[in-house]
Amino acid sequence: PVIVVCHDISPADSFHLAEAKLLGIVTELGGTTSHSSILARAMNIPAVVGIQNATMRISDDQQIILDGNLGEVIAEPDDETIKSKLDKKDRYNFYKSELSKLADHDCVLSDGKPVDIAANLDFITELELINKLKIPAIGLIRTEFLFLIEESFPDEDEQFQLYTKILKEINNKPITIRTWDVGGDKPTFAFPELADEINPALGLRAIRVCLKHQDIFRTQVKAILRASKRGTIRLMLPMITRIDEVIKAKKIIEEERIGLKIKPGSIEVGCMIETPASAFIIEDFLDLIDFISIGSNDLIQYALAVDRLNEHVADLFAPFHPAILKMLEKIVVSANRMNKSVSICGELAADPIMQMFLLGIGDITFSMSPNHVLQTKSILKKVDRAVCKKIAFKFMTKHSYEENNQYVQQLREQYMDLY
Ligand code: PEP
Ligand code: MG
Repeated sequence: PVIVVCHDISPADSFHLAEAKLLGIVTELGGTTSHSSILARAMNIPAVVGIQNATMRISDDQQIILDGNLGEVIAEPDDETIKSKLDKKDRYNFYKSELSKLADHDCVLSDGKPVDIAANLDFITELELINKLKIPAIGLIRTEFLFLIEESFPDEDEQFQLYTKILKEINNKPITIRTWDVGGDKPTFAFPELADEINPALGLRAIRVCLKHQDIFRTQVKAILRASKRGTIRLMLPMITRIDEVIKAKKIIEEERIGLKIKPGSIEVGCMIETPASAFIIEDFLDLIDFISIGSNDLIQYALAVDRLNEHVADLFAPFHPAILKMLEKIVVSANRMNKSVSICGELAADPIMQMFLLGIGDITFSMSPNHVLQTKSILKKVDRAVCKKIAFKFMTKHSYEENNQYVQQLREQYMDLY
């Protein structure tokens, strides 16, 4: 087994890497929410991303230590460092074995209040863990990761088979299938106009691709609608910025539903809230759709103008920036008031301090990599709703990112598990 040191891993590479028994991954590109990090997390492989010139600085067969928790890569470590890192590894393994005892427990606060959790699915192999941990739902299926879409898109039957297989393997628990979120950092060569975009994150991406190339969208919608006869499926639209995108997408879904003679109301339609535009007019979206899910990875990227892939600005990617917290508050409060289900499915959904903040604001589901579920159960059982409310209040009354950051550090010291 080896540690792979590379420039970047693409969704297609990770398909193959998932098979190899890797000890770790180091990439030159990326930040904590880039696809390489998300995929490494889904594969449960320790990873450090954004190490500039790593492929030049580390040579083949060199001994290195990778500490994914600290984001550290140490080349040619001395004996003392090796010993202290091995001790840390033992403590971490012990911590994980302790956590595994929580597999059968529900996720509850210390006052017994249940916390809604769901899984993100990036690899089909994660279904096993979702079952093992008894996670009650899948809150985000990144369909663009499940198929090799670099060259072409799968046909309706291939998709139908996979969606029904997912339902079957998790015993018909509810699933949320996100329609193609291609473009941006998830490349496909199927559409030549994507090849030479100067600014792909602001380019032809996700719903924009689907409304332009409606054939791939209609095929996917048909496969999802057909699969919905076998279980509870919610269909989620990514990267929405405008009301008319939802209206157009819903019209297509309705046309395909009628064509397939599927009962009205057999599928809920929702959208990702991952642009500041959609957060500002959240009530208008809530009028139109059945549910929303906050894509915090993109919401932060677009709100703070920080490329989530760019390691040079990774330290500016600030989830606890007051502007982000205000947006999150507005989204959750509006959804709760209008009685629509709201979840968060970006990487922030697994951050215990963010979870406490959001639980203090209102009712929300946390959809995360299954690998984070046990830690969530272990930390959230230390607080009750009143504590979360106090935490949320404190955050909302601070004005600078620095103040918020200090408070985050304080809460991490207080509540995070040490090992
Ligand atoms: C997000 O943006 O937070 C999200 C869940 O979508 P993705 O990471 O796939 O862009
Ligand atoms: Mg997104």
